[in-house]
Amino acid sequence: MNVLVTAGPTHEAIDPVRFIANRSSGKMGFALAEAFVAHGHAVTLISGPVCLSPPVGLAAFAGVVSSDEMFDAVHTHIAKMDLAILCAAVADFKIARAETQKIKKAGREKLTLELISTRDILASLKNISSSLRVVGFAAETENFVENAREKLSRKGCEAIVLNDVNRTDAGFASDDNEVTVIFREGPQIRLPRASKRQIAAQLVGIFANRHKM
Ligand code: C5P
Repeated sequence: MNVLVTAGPTHEAIDPVRFIANRSSGKMGFALAEAFVAHGHAVTLISGPVCLSPPVGLAAFAGVVSSDEMFDAVHTHIAKMDLAILCAAVADFKIARAETQKIKKAGREKLTLELISTRDILASLKNISSSLRVVGFAAETENFVENAREKLSRKGCEAIVLNDVNRTDAGFASDDNEVTVIFREGPQIRLPRASKRQIAAQLVGIFANRHKM
């Protein structure tokens, strides 16, 4: 099947040299893309700025910087996809008006930045096509399952892969992860702590098998 994976953080420009970002390394999304390729799927990987080389054997790769660029890249490729797994840690807010020149510190005691919401890429796929299956990721620090269930219905996806980002031994930037897959209709599947490559292989098994059913 044709699978689209998003990965990594996004960078939201403040001025030409500064940006707002987050701790995502892209490792989970890259591992997922690699695992789908290894199982014979045609994978399009869309990634924010990361220090990783794209896996060998991708059908397509798009490197993007901002949430707006990631939104556009996803919508460029989505029409032919069977499954979209949105693993990227997209910024929730961007600068209302990024400066075109570097902001000077001289003469300033403080600086106030106005932030506005970014577009939600996952939610934008809600009614795109009845044959497209969409899976989201959620990094939570509290009320894990309640927040994931709320996202499942608000963003209209089939499943959410839930990460506990309080942990220092798994999740953001780590080589390991521990996740719970929560389906809108159906089971919750806990995948105990393992390397992101092992978690990715298990996720491919879960989502590729459901596709055949
Ligand atoms: O709402 P929250 O950011 O926790 O949702 C996480 C999920 O939504 C992830 O799958 C992420 O890739 C996706 N998302 C998105 N566009 C945004 C924010 C989040 O696609 N602007």
